[in-house]
Amino acid sequence: MDVVTMEITEVVTLVNEWGTEPCRVDGRAPRPGPELTTLADELHPIFVTTDPATRARLVTGLLRLTGVRPELSPEQAPTWSVDDPTQSTRAAAALALRHHLTEHPGRLGLCADDQCADVYVDASPAGKRRFCCLTCQNRARAAAFRRRKAQLGETSRDQLR
Ligand SMILES: [Zn+2]
Repeated sequence: MDVVTMEITEVVTLVNEWGTEPCRVDGRAPRPGPELTTLADELHPIFVTTDPATRARLVTGLLRLTGVRPELSPEQAPTWSVDDPTQSTRAAAALALRHHLTEHPGRLGLCADDQCADVYVDASPAGKRRFCCLTCQNRARAAAFRRRKAQLGETSRDQLR
């Protein structure tokens, strides 16, 4: 059967809304669909690792597992096909990751906020994105500010002794 291709942003949504870890850290229940949770949990480590070789191995492993292959449609369009229909979504996600990483190597990751396990793709011009959303970025900045302030407080107390 033909694989209905996915956008990389749809892969991010799948991981964040069905994944065990992103939902657990956020105190949410994963969306219904245990097969999608299984898939989201397979995809999460691809965003978590920062090692390109590990990323490549994980994506390649998923592609092999699905047995996805390139074909040509009667309309002469490039298509992807799997024999096992239950592998279709896995193949679509793996293909989206393969495409994204070949075009934009390293442009994905895990939210840097320690109260969040959501993943993101980095479409920023500078490629320095570290957070899944503005809320996390602001929360992490506020926490860093409080830490610095606390440290400064201790330093000035030390100087008084
Ligand atoms: Zn986040």
